[in-house]
Amino acid sequence: AKRDGKNRYAIYEERMSEQMREELHLKQSLHHALDNREFVLHYQPQVSARTSQVFGYESLIRWNHPDFGVLSPNHFISLAEETGMIIEIGEWVLQEACHQTRKWQVEASQPDLKVAVNLSAQQFVDSMLPEKVFRALEDSGLSPESLIIEITETMVLQDFDRSIETMERLRNRGIKVHLDDFGVGFSSLSYLNRLPIDAIKIDRSFVRQIGEEKHDVAIVNAIISMAKSLGLQVIAEGVEKKEHISYLKRKGCYEYQGYYFSKPVPAHLVTL
Ligand code: C2E
Ligand code: CA
Ligand code: CA
Ligand code: CA
Repeated sequence: AKRDGKNRYAIYEERMSEQMREELHLKQSLHHALDNREFVLHYQPQVSARTSQVFGYESLIRWNHPDFGVLSPNHFISLAEETGMIIEIGEWVLQEACHQTRKWQVEASQPDLKVAVNLSAQQFVDSMLPEKVFRALEDSGLSPESLIIEITETMVLQDFDRSIETMERLRNRGIKVHLDDFGVGFSSLSYLNRLPIDAIKIDRSFVRQIGEEKHDVAIVNAIISMAKSLGLQVIAEGVEKKEHISYLKRKGCYEYQGYYFSKPVPAHLVTL
């Protein structure tokens, strides 16, 4: 019996170390991922019902891992934050998204095409962030008006005053700032009013409920009217169905992003 227990413990230990080995491997390979050019950006269109046209793309990072295959950001962004690698990765994202979008603008003669870039909390509090953003614009030749920076409420609430300062530095250049995942945090009219932003994105969890049996559209309705009263643009994310669109349009939301139009795809599959 004593032997059995010992064996069982050994098996448990082996399993644990297997998982830990994978995590360690992921962490270590993260250090070489940039140099090895393993990151790619996928792009998902943002569509305007007013013009029935794609006005821009959101860039979404993927990691082409040599052993684990294509990894979505949920698998490595927090790891990249823990290790501090997110700063360098974020710079690469900015540079890559700006260069690609400028290329599309020229090739397709669409000078107004926009690109939205997600920031992580660490990037947002980096005092060098505005300079890094400006440099990506200068290096690529993309105009500030074509760049959208997406931040979340939780990022803003970490240090409200400093966040506003950063947002103003970006907006003074002409860069747009959008508030992502709106509605899932501690949104309130009083602080939304004080934020220097151009648009809010309604989180997918609310859009998903439209047309469902036990739907709670009160939040969607409130977000749209709140945004309108503040003169903000509203973009709905996670739009998957026709009825999402007809409902949102009826409520006065004319900008959409979601699988209904396209999943995020690599740049070479984007048709302008
Ligand atoms: P997010 O900014 O809220 O991005 C939207 C997510 O919803 C994306 O997941 C997108 O693929 C997914 N999505 C879009 N339309 C639909 C739809 O109709 N239905 C459903 N079910 N999902 C839809 P993804 O690409 O896995 O990204 C997850 C999150 O990772 C993003 O959420 C964002 O917070 C973060 N992320 C992505 N790229 C970057 C990046 O370059 N830097 C940083 N810091 N974070 C990033
Ligand atoms: Ca986003
Ligand atoms: Ca979002
Ligand atoms: Ca979201």
